[in-house]
Amino acid sequence: MHIKAAVVRESGGPFLIEDLELEAPQAGEVLVRIVACGICHTDLIIRDQYYPTPLPIVLGHEGAGVVEAVGPGVKSVRPGDHVLMSFAYCGNCPSCLDGAPSYCWHHMEMNFSGMRYSGKAWDVPAPLLRRLPSGKPERINGAFFNQSALATHAIATEQNVVVVAPDLDLKTLAPLGCGFQTGAGAILNTLRPEVGSSLVILGAGNVGLAALMAAVVARCSPIIVIDQVPARLELATSLGATHVIDASRVDALDAVMKLCPGGVRYALETTGNPGVLQGAFEMLQTRGVCGLIGGSRIGTKASFDMTHLLFGRTVRGILQGDSKPKKFLPQLIELFRQGLFPVDRLVRFYPLEDIEHAIADMKSGQVIKPVLLMER
Ligand SMILES: [Zn+2]
Ligand SMILES: [Zn+2]
Repeated sequence: MHIKAAVVRESGGPFLIEDLELEAPQAGEVLVRIVACGICHTDLIIRDQYYPTPLPIVLGHEGAGVVEAVGPGVKSVRPGDHVLMSFAYCGNCPSCLDGAPSYCWHHMEMNFSGMRYSGKAWDVPAPLLRRLPSGKPERINGAFFNQSALATHAIATEQNVVVVAPDLDLKTLAPLGCGFQTGAGAILNTLRPEVGSSLVILGAGNVGLAALMAAVVARCSPIIVIDQVPARLELATSLGATHVIDASRVDALDAVMKLCPGGVRYALETTGNPGVLQGAFEMLQTRGVCGLIGGSRIGTKASFDMTHLLFGRTVRGILQGDSKPKKFLPQLIELFRQGLFPVDRLVRFYPLEDIEHAIADMKSGQVIKPVLLMER
């Protein structure tokens, strides 16, 4: 079928809106008419080739939409279902069998190879083609997180879609499938803080602010948020941060140690910056835990004082907030319905054609979570 999609053809961008053809869903796959797709930091680091994902490619991995057709063998999803999309996992490796699908041993191939997962192998070309003026087809990479949802339509699989109630606003909830579950899950699934635990969140982007909302639900205290953009810190205060620190004006480590003289129980690094990670580690009290969420270029190194580590401290990488999307997304939706996870305060909508404008607003800190709309 004929679709429109945002294609990245060279490292660093831009996103070009192109007319493409999308093949029909195969066994285990579903065709989704995309309503909205959030932009996540990971789309931008792939655009910038931090990982060797092949170009040209259609990115986008926070898609939400309505199922239009299903391939052979699909049982739990039907045409007309409203769905949020999340990450891909194999279901059969040691991590998946352990109930930790975000650490699937095939995470990189299945989410970042640009290839389509057939149910048996992940070396099947993506279902995206461009018809060249000569009439010959050009193969475009896709299946990014089994979706490539920066497009009017996408192929996902039965496994990586979560069916949601039709009364929910898909535009607002699209980022649950990556950014929002990543931040909230780091608190609710991974760190699981006791009531009254001290917590520092480093970086008040969409992941950090989703973590903040979850930390309020978990009754952490104090909740300290560090960033360099005053508007983001104001938003953090209004969402329940007990203290905010502008790291462009004061030494963040000093400021945290003044507030919590023995250090904090938990620190959450959301920026992917090695210096920030080191600072987060140094803020920890004895037996404190630092969660690392931010993605960095492959090969990036950070160093730690070994004696500081020896005193029971932990640095823990966290992917996708340790989420099992079909279980965790409905929990987040329930919190949203109760007003306890107000992600509507983080999103701003743009038409797909304005994607570069949306990315510029995200980068400048003017908007926390840009969401692209496929229909006017
Ligand atoms: Zn697996
Ligand atoms: Zn993401």
